[in-house]
Amino acid sequence: MNTFEMLKKVCESYGPAGREAEIRKTIEKLVKPLGYKTTTDALGNLICHKAGKGVKLMFAAHMDSLGLIATYFEEGGQVRFGCIGGINPFRLLAASVRFANGVCGTVEKDGDVDFKDVTIEKLYIDLGVQTKEEAMKLVSVGDVAVYDSPIRLCEGGKFAMGAYLDDRAGCVAQLLAMEQVKETENDLYFVFSTQEELGLRGAKVATFAIDPDYMVACDVTHSDDSPKAPHVGSCKAGCGAAIKVMDRSVICHPEVVDKLVSLAKEKNIRYAMDVIKAGGTDAGAAQLSLDGVPAGGVSMACRYTHSPNEMVSISDVEDCAKLMAAFAAAEF
Ligand SMILES: [Zn+2]
Repeated sequence: MNTFEMLKKVCESYGPAGREAEIRKTIEKLVKPLGYKTTTDALGNLICHKAGKGVKLMFAAHMDSLGLIATYFEEGGQVRFGCIGGINPFRLLAASVRFANGVCGTVEKDGDVDFKDVTIEKLYIDLGVQTKEEAMKLVSVGDVAVYDSPIRLCEGGKFAMGAYLDDRAGCVAQLLAMEQVKETENDLYFVFSTQEELGLRGAKVATFAIDPDYMVACDVTHSDDSPKAPHVGSCKAGCGAAIKVMDRSVICHPEVVDKLVSLAKEKNIRYAMDVIKAGGTDAGAAQLSLDGVPAGGVSMACRYTHSPNEMVSISDVEDCAKLMAAFAAAEF
């Protein structure tokens, strides 16, 4: 399976925050041949361990996605919803969505609302029914819909496009790193974390359980390459592994940043320094756990994050994998 095929498999699995059973099963199957001991904790984190006598390293990529949770049914069968994670209502207009049971629909706005005045409260999911009763046979309050945009390889073969590259691209980078990591004395933990989109919740409990010496999060970061960009981030898609210096959740430990930079130079891995003014990662939760953990991050610059059609460079995913594998086998 090449990197794109793995992205397609992992991105298209259902797994909004708090409902990660299906995506976890998909990842577990891919982890199986790699020779790690796996456990699942109470929050659903998939923790993969390769024991060693050396330094304890924790890596984390979040496997949960955004979602729309059904709250109310209109007489005409339209489903009102709340958001799981940070979703801009404009990103939702005309999006295709699907529930865990396969029921699909599209998101639209109330008839009396101007496009510029759209809020989540003015949106509904149209399931293609005509009455409340029909809708309630298909979906219940508390059911969660996800974007239903398939992963495609863009013409030219460089970029993958579709939903939930945040952070399934990180999950794939981590899977590739787990496969590539050389013999090492380091005690390695690779976590596929849950509920990141709701506030880094899975990584927090996983860090307490693992008690690592160092932690590296693998996630997407802002790609600063749209015309007239306000420059809220420093990286562009295709830049290689984005080595995190700071986001809204963390200012990375200098020892981790320096180690990642020197490994990238030593192994000839393309990289760029990543500073973003918005967004957070599991590194933020890990750093503030226990009595503090030196934490950092390796990211892929992603276009249109949290939209139904995100874009990530496939070579960036592979560069992140190489850098994580190098960190996993490094001497400390
Ligand atoms: Zn993310």
